[in-house]
Amino acid sequence: MSKMRVTLLGTGSPLPDPNRAGPATLVTADGLAVLVDCGRAVLMRLAAVGLLPPMLDALLVTHLHSDHISDLGDVITTRWVMSPAPRPFTICGPIGTREVVELTMASLARDVRYRIDHHADLIEGPAVTVREVSAGDEFNVGSATVRVGATEHRPVDPTVGFRIEVGGRSAVLAGDGIPCATLDALCKGADVYVQAVIRGDLVKQVPSARLQDILDYHSTVEQAAQTAAKAGVGTLMLTHYVPALQHGQESEWLVLAAAHFAGSVVLGDDLTHVEVG
Ligand SMILES: [Zn+2]
Ligand SMILES: [Zn+2]
Repeated sequence: MSKMRVTLLGTGSPLPDPNRAGPATLVTADGLAVLVDCGRAVLMRLAAVGLLPPMLDALLVTHLHSDHISDLGDVITTRWVMSPAPRPFTICGPIGTREVVELTMASLARDVRYRIDHHADLIEGPAVTVREVSAGDEFNVGSATVRVGATEHRPVDPTVGFRIEVGGRSAVLAGDGIPCATLDALCKGADVYVQAVIRGDLVKQVPSARLQDILDYHSTVEQAAQTAAKAGVGTLMLTHYVPALQHGQESEWLVLAAAHFAGSVVLGDDLTHVEVG
């Protein structure tokens, strides 16, 4: 069995944070590098783990909330400009991803033209292929098998989670959302389960109607732990913290999770990672 590494590139949320990049997670195994979501500053964090955009084999998008795709244009452009030869790039996401990628490409049209005009060896624009996926789909990225499951993040719809299996190891990238049967099924027996979480107890105390609205479509720490327990995963990784996880308060979050899940729970700063295998 080969090793699989799951790295939380960005553990932030839509709220700007000086130390937390936007939602993005990297799965590497067997020479493959798969990026899941591409929030704020994703390429800075990718550089921090020694990976440049051309080294990405695919981008998987869990849903089209802006915090998860804010740096899509940067990923597409930088991967294209830094690749010595044309290298097709596949972007997989729920229905609607094609429209978002096409509009992003349209917004980049001038930049593409400037660069093609300036660099003699650059003769065509970014080679991007979109694969729109639905629950139950299964496809390959190199030696990895990727399974798609529905998540529950309404009114955002459709939204999906991905189960990446390679070399006998598995990781589920659930994105945002609350517990549901299809997420339980996707997570069943996975080595690693990555879930965006909020602290319900803290969010409830904030006198802001707009912040209260996030309670009904994000998993609390406790709910993520319940999903992890139900599915019998090995490690639960928490990310996308609302409010931002403060240094010194990690144990508070861990206690909430440990009340529902006996396995290992991992959380922390950007670039926190786990390795299995
Ligand atoms: Zn969302
Ligand atoms: Zn989000």
